[in-house]
Amino acid sequence: MTIAAIAVALVIIAVIVAALVRGKGTPALQGPASKAPSALGPSPARPAVVPSSGTAAPREAVSAPAPADAPESLAPSALVPDQSVSVAPPAVEARSAKDISSLRKGLAATRGGFIAKLSALFRQNSELDSSTLQQLEEIMLEGDVGPKTTQAILLRLRESLGRADLRNPDAISLALRAEARRILTVPGGGGIRLSSKPTVVLMVGVNGVGKTTTIGKLATRYAANNKKVVLAAGDTFRAAAVQQLEVWGKRVGAEVVRGKEGADPGAVAFDATSRAKDAGADLLLIDTAGRLHTKAPLMDEIKKVRKTIAKALDGAPHETLLVLDATTGQNGLQQATMFREALDLTGVVLTKLDGTAKGGVVLAISDELRIPVRYVGLGERAEDLREFHADEFVEALFGPGDGQGDGPIAAAS
Ligand code: GDP
Repeated sequence: MTIAAIAVALVIIAVIVAALVRGKGTPALQGPASKAPSALGPSPARPAVVPSSGTAAPREAVSAPAPADAPESLAPSALVPDQSVSVAPPAVEARSAKDISSLRKGLAATRGGFIAKLSALFRQNSELDSSTLQQLEEIMLEGDVGPKTTQAILLRLRESLGRADLRNPDAISLALRAEARRILTVPGGGGIRLSSKPTVVLMVGVNGVGKTTTIGKLATRYAANNKKVVLAAGDTFRAAAVQQLEVWGKRVGAEVVRGKEGADPGAVAFDATSRAKDAGADLLLIDTAGRLHTKAPLMDEIKKVRKTIAKALDGAPHETLLVLDATTGQNGLQQATMFREALDLTGVVLTKLDGTAKGGVVLAISDELRIPVRYVGLGERAEDLREFHADEFVEALFGPGDGQGDGPIAAAS
């Protein structure tokens, strides 16, 4: 009787201890996911673990990879064998592979163009002699890397590679990848952090680059994470732009502040900032007219808009993001230079990367401007906006394909 009672007690204690150990182990296993940016609210890992968690979110929001960018946890594991990968919950691990894969698909044109040419060069030449170097230079220039950045990369390759490595295509390719990662790692990167309530983001750029679409995508992403978003139709010159923003607003359930056609964009921005404050919004996204960067008065006007926003809310705008169309190559770089002179830019959104085989422009932007690329646009749908993280991007660009017809296999993968 007594022995039986002791046995039962021991079993109960064992069960309790096992449960406690399991309970403690869980957070450790979820560690990498919990490092994701808090700006996006609930743990970004959640949708992958518990699919379709939100009922309030609009259609796009549910399928959007909004919190998909759990970069700090994803990128390193994709590049180097990371011990933590083996203990990560399967859903998180699968999600990181899926993310790289979808980014890779979005970059298919560049992988099939610029990167495929690089791969072929390294396959066909067993050493980096002067003729191979010349071909490498041509490919980079064709790929929109730009003359300055191309020269800088070639110089660093020569410096960093030893004599033996110059005869090893894999070593050259790996050095190129490392160089790309170094260039693309610019301080201040990552997605918009909701550091203030409301956090005010001013979107600038020339006509047609994708400002309004990017605002819609960002609104979708933050609204899906239960953030209150307000949109400001600051492009008061084009009725179509206002309508476009209103469509996005309806879709994501975000209030849109607009003025009369031709109204002073500064006044609209001021009203929108005041409204976002009163409404307790988390995020205000302000659209602006497509400044012709070569016309000084228009640049002056956007500077005025910026000042007016600051009058409505101290410290705002918290972010000024320049939207650039990747398909415009070096022209985009010129635009960026002009905007940077006029405004205190906090980041670049590089849109339409899906539509170019010359994705090398991202290297030129990061190298020459040293302004962080914060997001890349890989299509027109809400879910086609990706937070930019150098490691993840380099892996998707240079890394091996996953056998799903998404591009070439780079030499040193
Ligand atoms: P805005 O004048 O700067 O506001 O530009 P819009 O947002 O109106 O975008 C111009 C066009 O570019 C629209 O047809 C968008 O659908 C398209 N667009 C925007 N971003 C992307 C992208 O990342 N990829 C592709 N393929 N198209 C895009």
